[in-house]
Amino acid sequence: MNKEKLFISLLAVSIPVIALLPLPDFWIVQLNYIGLYALVCLGLVLLTGVGGLTSFGQAAFVGIGAYTTAWLTLNTGISPWITLFIGLGLTAISALVIGTITLRMSGHYLPLATIAWGLSLYYLMGNLDELGKYDGLLGLKSLSLGSVDIGQGRMFFVLTWAILITSAIALINLLDSRAGRAIRSLKAGSLMAEAMGINTFRYKVTIFLIAALFASVAGWLMAHFQRTVNPSAFGLKMGIEYLFMAVIGGVGYVWGAFVGAGLIKLLDDYLQVALPALIGTSGSYEVIVFGIAMVLVLKYLPNGIWSLVANKLPRPPRKIDWHDAKPLSTRTKPALGELVLKVEKIRKQFGGLTAVNDISFDIHAGQIVGLIGPNGAGKSTTFNLITGVMPKTTGQVFYRGQDISAAPSRVIARQGMARTFQHVKMLNDMTVLENVALGAYTRGHCDVISSMLRTNKNEEQRFMKEAQQQLERIGMGQYLHELAGNLAMGPQRLMEIARALCCDPALLLLDEPAAGLRHKEKQELIKILRQLKNEGMSILLVEHDMDLVMNVCDHLVVMEFGTLLTQGTPSEIQASPAVRAAYLGMEH
Ligand code: ADP
Ligand code: MG
Repeated sequence: MNKEKLFISLLAVSIPVIALLPLPDFWIVQLNYIGLYALVCLGLVLLTGVGGLTSFGQAAFVGIGAYTTAWLTLNTGISPWITLFIGLGLTAISALVIGTITLRMSGHYLPLATIAWGLSLYYLMGNLDELGKYDGLLGLKSLSLGSVDIGQGRMFFVLTWAILITSAIALINLLDSRAGRAIRSLKAGSLMAEAMGINTFRYKVTIFLIAALFASVAGWLMAHFQRTVNPSAFGLKMGIEYLFMAVIGGVGYVWGAFVGAGLIKLLDDYLQVALPALIGTSGSYEVIVFGIAMVLVLKYLPNGIWSLVANKLPRPPRKIDWHDAKPLSTRTKPALGELVLKVEKIRKQFGGLTAVNDISFDIHAGQIVGLIGPNGAGKSTTFNLITGVMPKTTGQVFYRGQDISAAPSRVIARQGMARTFQHVKMLNDMTVLENVALGAYTRGHCDVISSMLRTNKNEEQRFMKEAQQQLERIGMGQYLHELAGNLAMGPQRLMEIARALCCDPALLLLDEPAAGLRHKEKQELIKILRQLKNEGMSILLVEHDMDLVMNVCDHLVVMEFGTLLTQGTPSEIQASPAVRAAYLGMEH
């Protein structure tokens, strides 16, 4: 994030310089519009680029901000500095209502819902007498501070860009925080995020809300700058255009919002003049060009124009400034031998198939328990029933004496049961350190606002220190600043273990940690598992690799066709004729 801070400082310094330069007024007007559009796009970077939620409805939120201030200042004489906050309040209410209804929808339903929402608000604005129907409201006052008019020209330029740059800084701060890592994890699917203790739905609503608020501020500014509002500026066409800007600029980057807004605004003006002249009749031909441009960008430059720049920039390693940070608080661990997990007759039926048939076993503190069985035996399903990923048909699970049978995975994680995944789930474009810090999510408190204001510095340092220590604990200290996406399979799996350890677990659940590992890496893994056990950790291991299982486990639970075949110590299991029969021809 360092380079982004550098860019933003450069930009902040250049704003007063640009304002003082003898530029033609028309240029300043262009820059004003670019600033307003970029503010809306900034919301889309967070919502769509980072959070993976596509919205065509941002223009409608711009409209709420604009119409609120227009109607109130014209009809009640309330100061625009107050109507700004009333507009934000109305926007927040609508965003929360719409978000709560639509954000549970998956796939294409959300974009469709935002289209419906954009359209309905457009027709509402266009049909209300009170709002001037399609003519809109005219004669707004330009913004003033005391007796100084700051609503036009250079003063407005400074105001708009100051708001824009402040918002960009807040967003950069947010993305580099506990809440930001949670938001970035939304794209990797809710399964992983929830297993880290993150309430994914709440974060979806939060980023929807933030994006709407950015748009609303832009609408407030726009209304007083243009001194008139009418529905066409806030309709679906404009909603699509905002998304165009963000995607073409690079929707995954804060700077993509600036580049996209600038490029589309300038191109739009140019094409509106050039195309009709070229074709010989008037019309909105620029929309066609944008459509083609969008398709080409999506095909050849899917991460937008800024990705060209971003990939070229050096990525300086994060400064390690957390040496002196206080360690995160830890939970009291069970005493050696204490009952940690009690699985009691859990059952899962998929239609007619009983995938898990009344399985019971215990795990005591300091034990490594292996759950083994041929393919399709029901191991992963058992794992998912224990971790709260899917509901049980019947049966109960007790964790440290507490009934967690009906708890969702994020609640279970919060209580100190951490897991890894059979198929590694990580964020490729985050560093190893950040990926691992995600695991400590439940051990912090700093929210979105303190992240934006950077009052979370203390906690952040404690997170980073924890992540570094957990990586060093499993021998991955040399990978801190590597992008996770660059890791080979072995280190990826170890990174997941470090991430789980960051949650300060009393029970660690590992789903096939040796899958895809080379011989040497397996030996390394065995060493790490033994070391964790010696430190008092309890582990449930689902594993195919018999060598590894026999080597590290204290107790084995063998499943076949969903039922418990037998359980016992590794030597008992190896000697069991039933197990030999079940595995005959399957294991080397
Ligand atoms: P293992 O991990 O031991 O290989 P699983 O727990 O993945 O076995 O699967 C056990 C059985 O349950 C298999 O027959 C599998 O096809 C079935 N199964 C697993 N998940 C589902 C599901 N979501 N819907 C229907 N059947 C499933
Ligand atoms: Mg499995």
